[in-house]
Amino acid sequence: MGAIDLHARPSKDYDQKLAETQQLLIRAAAEFSPLTQANSLGAEDMVITHLVNSLELDIPVFVLETGMLHQETLDLLERLKATSRAPVKVFHPVQESVVQFVGREGKDAMYRSIGLRKACCQIRKVEPLQRALEGQRAWITGLRREQSAARAEVPLVDASEPRTKFNPLANWTWGDVWHYIAQNQVDYHPLHDQFYPSIGCAPCTRAISLGEDFRAGRWWWEDEAAKECGLHVKTNEGVAA
Ligand code: SF4
Repeated sequence: MGAIDLHARPSKDYDQKLAETQQLLIRAAAEFSPLTQANSLGAEDMVITHLVNSLELDIPVFVLETGMLHQETLDLLERLKATSRAPVKVFHPVQESVVQFVGREGKDAMYRSIGLRKACCQIRKVEPLQRALEGQRAWITGLRREQSAARAEVPLVDASEPRTKFNPLANWTWGDVWHYIAQNQVDYHPLHDQFYPSIGCAPCTRAISLGEDFRAGRWWWEDEAAKECGLHVKTNEGVAA
């Protein structure tokens, strides 16, 4: 049974949520230029890129290619680049930083300590993200409140940072996401069919079991509280990005 069969169950107010999401994206494109969408190639981000393309909005998309992604992710990226109306730009880590880090700490350093895991995320994700966002007035993410306790308060529009962040799916359920994918035949990551709800780098992502939390498959060897890669950590909370 695939992810669509398992999850595609819209909420009662799905149609209203979809209309509000479309309006929010249209408003963001009109009022916040330049604006870009972060696409991790997970289900939520594929839904947003599909909306951007179907509404013909002038919102370029970017992907962080960490050098540690699953082959299935790279294949989906190629398909997205070939089919997306919105331009898709790929950002890579600084090669010299990767070579130095791996040479010093080894390629499995992330399992040895939270500090080393965050150092790896800093080189492969956070620094490339900073480059991707340079000069942008705002950005769009696929964060949803349901994804984790840390994300329970995610607002639709977060203006608390100098760069506005739009989270147009903040109040969507996982069922809404899959209903949209099914209705619109959105191309999606095949690992979602193998019980990976949240997909990141290959060494740091595993499938989850029935009853486990949505993000239980990410950095599963760490405490719950440490489970953010720095991409969505507020700088004013004093947490290392
Ligand atoms: Fe490194 Fe894992 Fe972070 Fe990817 S998710 S950048 S492999 S520590």
